[in-house]
Amino acid sequence: MSDAQVSLFTRIINREIPADIVYEDDQCIVINDIAPQAPVHMLVIPRKPLAMLVDAGPEDKMVMGHLLLVAGEVARMRGVDEAFRLVINNGAGAGQTVFHLHLHVLGNTQFDETNLATF
Ligand code: 5GP
Repeated sequence: MSDAQVSLFTRIINREIPADIVYEDDQCIVINDIAPQAPVHMLVIPRKPLAMLVDAGPEDKMVMGHLLLVAGEVARMRGVDEAFRLVINNGAGAGQTVFHLHLHVLGNTQFDETNLATF
Protein backbone atom coordinates (compact mmCIF):
# COMPACT_ATOMS: atom_id res chain seq x y z
CA MET A 1 0.00 0.00 0.00
CA SER A 2 1.43 3.40 -0.95
CA ASP A 3 1.73 6.17 1.65
CA ALA A 4 -1.06 8.10 -0.06
CA GLN A 5 -3.46 5.20 0.55
CA VAL A 6 -2.69 4.89 4.26
CA SER A 7 -5.63 6.36 6.17
CA LEU A 8 -5.41 9.11 8.74
CA PHE A 9 -6.59 6.66 11.38
CA THR A 10 -3.92 4.11 10.46
CA ARG A 11 -1.38 6.89 10.93
CA ILE A 12 -2.87 7.56 14.37
CA ILE A 13 -2.79 3.82 15.18
CA ASN A 14 0.87 3.75 14.10
CA ARG A 15 1.63 6.83 16.26
CA GLU A 16 2.67 8.86 13.21
CA ILE A 17 0.02 11.45 14.10
CA PRO A 18 -0.79 12.32 17.71
CA ALA A 19 -4.25 11.68 19.16
CA ASP A 20 -5.91 11.53 22.53
CA ILE A 21 -6.14 7.76 22.99
CA VAL A 22 -8.90 6.59 25.31
CA TYR A 23 -8.49 2.81 24.90
CA GLU A 24 -6.78 0.28 22.66
CA ASP A 25 -6.45 -3.44 22.27
CA ASP A 26 -5.32 -5.89 19.61
CA GLN A 27 -8.34 -5.19 17.37
CA CYS A 28 -9.19 -1.53 17.80
CA ILE A 29 -8.33 1.87 19.15
CA VAL A 30 -10.59 4.54 20.67
CA ILE A 31 -9.68 8.23 20.43
CA ASN A 32 -11.36 11.49 21.32
CA ASP A 33 -12.69 13.28 18.24
CA ILE A 34 -10.62 16.36 17.38
CA ALA A 35 -13.79 18.39 16.69
CA PRO A 36 -16.32 17.06 19.23
CA GLN A 37 -20.02 17.31 18.36
CA ALA A 38 -21.07 16.36 21.91
CA PRO A 39 -19.52 16.73 25.39
CA VAL A 40 -18.20 13.18 24.97
CA HIS A 41 -17.30 12.30 21.38
CA MET A 42 -15.09 9.28 20.81
CA LEU A 43 -14.24 7.30 17.71
CA VAL A 44 -13.97 3.51 17.86
CA ILE A 45 -11.66 2.44 15.03
CA PRO A 46 -10.72 -1.09 13.97
CA ARG A 47 -7.02 -1.66 13.31
CA LYS A 48 -8.08 -3.33 10.08
CA PRO A 49 -8.38 -0.47 7.56
CA LEU A 50 -11.84 -1.18 6.16
CA ALA A 51 -12.76 1.99 4.25
CA MET A 52 -16.50 1.81 4.92
CA LEU A 53 -19.00 -0.34 6.77
CA VAL A 54 -20.08 -1.92 3.50
CA ASP A 55 -16.52 -3.16 2.96
CA ALA A 56 -16.83 -5.50 5.95
CA GLY A 57 -17.45 -9.13 5.05
CA PRO A 58 -18.28 -12.34 6.89
CA GLU A 59 -14.62 -12.63 7.92
CA ASP A 60 -15.03 -9.40 9.90
CA LYS A 61 -17.93 -10.65 12.03
CA MET A 62 -15.82 -10.95 15.17
CA VAL A 63 -14.21 -7.54 14.91
CA MET A 64 -17.53 -5.85 14.09
CA GLY A 65 -19.08 -7.31 17.24
CA HIS A 66 -15.99 -6.33 19.20
CA LEU A 67 -16.34 -2.69 18.12
CA LEU A 68 -19.86 -2.59 19.61
CA LEU A 69 -18.73 -4.11 22.88
CA VAL A 70 -15.84 -1.64 23.12
CA ALA A 71 -18.21 1.26 22.35
CA GLY A 72 -20.32 0.24 25.35
CA GLU A 73 -17.23 -0.20 27.51
CA VAL A 74 -15.74 3.22 26.75
CA ALA A 75 -19.16 4.84 27.22
CA ARG A 76 -19.19 3.25 30.69
CA MET A 77 -15.59 4.41 31.32
CA ARG A 78 -16.55 7.99 30.46
CA GLY A 79 -19.77 7.86 32.52
CA VAL A 80 -22.19 8.24 29.61
CA ASP A 81 -23.55 4.68 29.49
CA GLU A 82 -27.04 5.92 30.41
CA ALA A 83 -27.34 8.08 27.28
CA PHE A 84 -25.19 7.88 24.21
CA ARG A 85 -25.61 7.42 20.49
CA LEU A 86 -23.57 5.40 18.03
CA VAL A 87 -23.21 6.72 14.50
CA ILE A 88 -21.49 5.27 11.44
CA ASN A 89 -21.35 7.46 8.37
CA ASN A 90 -21.06 5.23 5.31
CA GLY A 91 -19.95 7.09 2.18
CA ALA A 92 -19.30 10.72 1.34
CA GLY A 93 -23.00 11.23 0.63
CA ALA A 94 -23.73 10.34 4.26
CA GLY A 95 -21.06 12.69 5.58
CA GLN A 96 -18.11 10.29 5.84
CA THR A 97 -14.85 12.23 5.59
CA VAL A 98 -12.27 9.72 6.83
CA PHE A 99 -12.33 6.52 4.81
CA HIS A 100 -11.36 4.13 7.55
CA LEU A 101 -14.40 2.65 9.29
CA HIS A 102 -15.18 4.23 12.66
CA LEU A 103 -18.06 4.39 15.13
CA HIS A 104 -18.87 7.77 16.65
CA VAL A 105 -19.80 7.48 20.34
CA LEU A 106 -21.71 10.63 21.23
CA GLY A 107 -22.58 11.06 24.85
CA ASN A 108 -23.67 13.40 27.58
CA THR A 109 -25.80 15.64 25.49
CA GLN A 110 -29.51 16.28 25.26
CA PHE A 111 -30.88 14.18 22.43
CA ASP A 112 -34.01 15.74 21.07
CA GLU A 113 -35.61 16.27 17.69
CA THR A 114 -33.41 19.30 17.02
CA ASN A 115 -30.05 17.64 17.30
CA LEU A 116 -30.97 14.10 16.25
CA ALA A 117 -30.88 15.32 12.67
CA THR A 118 -27.46 16.93 12.93
CA PHE A 119 -25.33 13.83 12.95
P1 5GP B 1 -16.71 10.98 9.50
O1 5GP B 1 -17.13 12.35 9.02
O2 5GP B 1 -15.76 10.33 8.53
O3 5GP B 1 -17.82 10.10 9.92
O4 5GP B 1 -15.90 11.27 10.83
C1 5GP B 1 -14.56 11.63 10.85
C2 5GP B 1 -14.29 12.21 12.21
O5 5GP B 1 -12.89 12.25 12.40
C3 5GP B 1 -14.81 13.65 12.36
O6 5GP B 1 -15.73 13.71 13.46
C4 5GP B 1 -13.54 14.46 12.61
O7 5GP B 1 -13.72 15.50 13.55
C5 5GP B 1 -12.56 13.41 13.11
N1 5GP B 1 -11.18 13.71 12.81
C6 5GP B 1 -10.68 14.13 11.63
N2 5GP B 1 -9.34 14.28 11.71
C7 5GP B 1 -9.00 13.93 12.98
C8 5GP B 1 -7.74 13.87 13.66
O8 5GP B 1 -6.67 14.16 13.14
N3 5GP B 1 -7.78 13.46 14.96
C9 5GP B 1 -8.94 13.11 15.58
N4 5GP B 1 -8.84 12.72 16.85
N5 5GP B 1 -10.14 13.15 14.97
C10 5GP B 1 -10.16 13.55 13.67
